[in-house]
Amino acid sequence: MDAEFFTAMAVTKRFGGVTALLDLSLAIQRSQIYSLIGPNGAGKSTFFNAVTGFDPPDSGSIQFQGRELVGLAPEAVATARIARTYQNIRLFKSMTALENVIVGRHVLMRAGVFGAVFNPPPTRREEETAETRAFELLDFVGLRGREAEVSINLSYGDQRRLEIARALALEPELLLLDEPTAGMSPAETSAVADLVLHLRDERGLTVLLVEHDMSVVMGISDRITVMDYGEEIARGTPDEVQNDPRVLEAYLGGAA
Ligand code: ADP
Ligand code: MG
Repeated sequence: MDAEFFTAMAVTKRFGGVTALLDLSLAIQRSQIYSLIGPNGAGKSTFFNAVTGFDPPDSGSIQFQGRELVGLAPEAVATARIARTYQNIRLFKSMTALENVIVGRHVLMRAGVFGAVFNPPPTRREEETAETRAFELLDFVGLRGREAEVSINLSYGDQRRLEIARALALEPELLLLDEPTAGMSPAETSAVADLVLHLRDERGLTVLLVEHDMSVVMGISDRITVMDYGEEIARGTPDEVQNDPRVLEAYLGGAA
C-alpha cells in the first residue's frame, strides 16, 4: 500500500579511491525496523550521511514519501521529519540534558533557532511546549531525574539515550540510529532494543538501524540489508540473512 515510504536507488559514494557505497538500493515500508549491517567500513554511516544530507552521494536517488532527498541540506531533511543519532555522539557538551532535547526540536518551531534566541512573544508558547515534550522524552528514554545534568557528565550509555531523545524531539517519521547500543552494558542494550520496538509498535515509527549486536538485530528487525565494501551482499528477514553463506563469509572472513 505504502510501497514508496522510503526508497534508495543505486546510491554510490566515493572518497578518493575508496568506494564507500556502490549501487546500494533498498526500500523500507512504514513502521518497519530496517537494519543495515556489515563489517566496519562497509559504508553504513556513509549511507546515513547520504540520506540526511550531511554528505550527499555522487549518484543515485533517495526518496522519502515521494520526495527526493538528494540535494537537500540537512535542515531540509530534518524538516521532512527524518531524525538521526550519530555513531560518534554529538551533543552540546556544556548544555543540560533538557536543553539538548529542546534544541533538537528547534527545527520544528516556526521561529527556528533565531526566534528562540530573540524570543519574541509568539514563540513563548512553543518554548513551553518544547520543554514539556522534552521532559516526556527524557522520561521515555530512561533519563527521568537527569534533566538538569550537563550532558558531558552523563555516562556513555546515558549520552546515547539522550541522543535518541534529542532525535525524537523532532517528531520524526523516520528515525536513523547509528550504533545506538555501542559501549552499553547488556541490560542497557536490551532496554534500547525494547525502546525501538516500542517506537515501532506504539507510535508506528519507521526505524533504520545500524547495529553491531547481532542478538538485537536478529531480535527486532523486520528486514535487513547486509553490506560489505559498500555493496549489498544479502537482503531479507533475519532468518534469511543469518543463514546466507555470503553473510557468514563476510563476518567470519571465509572461515565458514
Ligand atoms: P561503516 O559505518 O559501515 O563502518 P563508513 O561508512 O564509516 O563504514 O565507511 C565506509 C568507507 O568509507 C570506509 O572505507 C571509510 O574509511 C570511508 N570513509 C567514510 N567517510 C569518509 C570520509 N569522510 N573521507 C574519506 N573516507 C571516508
Ligand atoms: Mg559507521
